[in-house]
Amino acid sequence: MTDSTLRPVRTRFAPSPTGSLHIGGLRTALFNWLFARHYGGTFILRIEDTDQKRFDPTALETLMEALRWAGLHWDEGPEVGGSYGPYVQSERLHLYQQWAKWLVEQDKAYTCYCSPERLQQVNREKEARKEPPGYDRHCRNLTAAQRAAYEAQGIKPVIRFKMPLDGQTVVQDAIRGESVFDNATQQDAVLLKSDGFPTYHLAVVVDDHFMQISHVMRAIEWFPSFPLHAQLWQAFGWDMPVYAHLPVILNPNGKGKISKRNPPKDKYGNIIPVMVHDYMQAGYLPEAMTNFLANIGWNFGDEREVFTMDEAIERFDLSRVNRASSAFPTEKLDWLNGEHIRRLTPDDLARRLKPVLENAGFEVDDELLRKVVPLVQIRLKTLNEIVDLAGFFFRETFVAAPPEELVQDKMDAAMTCRALDRAADVLAGLDDLSHEAQEAAMRGLADELGLKPKQLFGALRVAITGQRVATPLFETIAIVGKDVALERIRNAAQSLVVQS
Ligand code: GLU
Repeated sequence: MTDSTLRPVRTRFAPSPTGSLHIGGLRTALFNWLFARHYGGTFILRIEDTDQKRFDPTALETLMEALRWAGLHWDEGPEVGGSYGPYVQSERLHLYQQWAKWLVEQDKAYTCYCSPERLQQVNREKEARKEPPGYDRHCRNLTAAQRAAYEAQGIKPVIRFKMPLDGQTVVQDAIRGESVFDNATQQDAVLLKSDGFPTYHLAVVVDDHFMQISHVMRAIEWFPSFPLHAQLWQAFGWDMPVYAHLPVILNPNGKGKISKRNPPKDKYGNIIPVMVHDYMQAGYLPEAMTNFLANIGWNFGDEREVFTMDEAIERFDLSRVNRASSAFPTEKLDWLNGEHIRRLTPDDLARRLKPVLENAGFEVDDELLRKVVPLVQIRLKTLNEIVDLAGFFFRETFVAAPPEELVQDKMDAAMTCRALDRAADVLAGLDDLSHEAQEAAMRGLADELGLKPKQLFGALRVAITGQRVATPLFETIAIVGKDVALERIRNAAQSLVVQS
């Protein structure tokens, strides 16, 4: 299928693998993926690794892991291949070199022999004259003899683009509409470096052309390069894809773009992570993360904030992508994560909780986990919370709380000890461990002892779980079983005797 451009829809995510994926990057990937899926098109992963200084070989695996986790599977790219490969730029150097040379032959680019020292000097002089920095086009009109002389000195040139010196470049952005740039404000950008590696500008245009990309959706940071890229497309005589520059994600206070250096903070001043791996490790669901990111800069259209990616695919196009940047709505992520946790089937939730418990050092019995899931499903905001909330179920040996934890508000050790002893007797006499039966019996006992149910239940919860905050009391007793519960209650009462 195609969109209005009548080209098969092909979008790409083109990260530079410099480390773990940033959530801003994941959002860019997501929008490209949603768009491709909406139009039944192709989503491509292209690795832009030509900046050798920054290349980190393990980063590619980390990056793909984050995309796979988020469910953004690519149709073409590393691992899966495709007809337009290779999909790693460092394996395509000959193409960039060939097309840079072609531009030189066409007099649309030129070799530049200026040394870094000379470029610095030019900038210093410009600064002194209060002019904006930039190359002075010294080599733009060298004669063949001058070039030969430089070559004879063994100087390896860079190739620079011949930007038109006057006139305007008019660009169309699918989100932002038309923009006009004066060519006189533009630079003769380097396209190919002296080591034969392309700059982003050359590589991106060559690759987007040969990979037949129909829509380029990229971060707004690249907008200043847009006139240069538009001129490059024209110089090559190739059909330009549709461009859409995506709004940035700002800090929750609306100031500055989120980044590792300028990390977002929640309302308590705590730093919020910006790397996808941090969220993977903190127990967020990919369903919630993608839902969350889809809501930043795009909207579902009927005020709905919770949706699945299948639902988003059905609706996604560029008409509801905002031009304005949006603040990172930190509090929404936990809420959405809880919502998506509740939407999982209990079996699915169990499958996702198991590795979290195992990572925390517990040996997980599947049947026990299946019983625990309904107790936690409505309470969890992240998967990791299972450890504190219900990890006690999976401990090999019970860890009792310090006796003082048993003593509830407005109670003392002796009262607590007595209450626990009596509760053990009541429980021992119960055949029916349903919530209703236990609750009725224990409420009766609280009454009889002149305690509030909260006081008695609190003491029992600490006795049985070893913690103040845990799963619902009666369901927990039903799962651990009467014998284990009785033993824990009696031991707890005993610990208070020893104490007093
Ligand atoms: N490699 C660029 C980046 O990581 C890609 C920008 C683009 O999508 O063209 O930001």
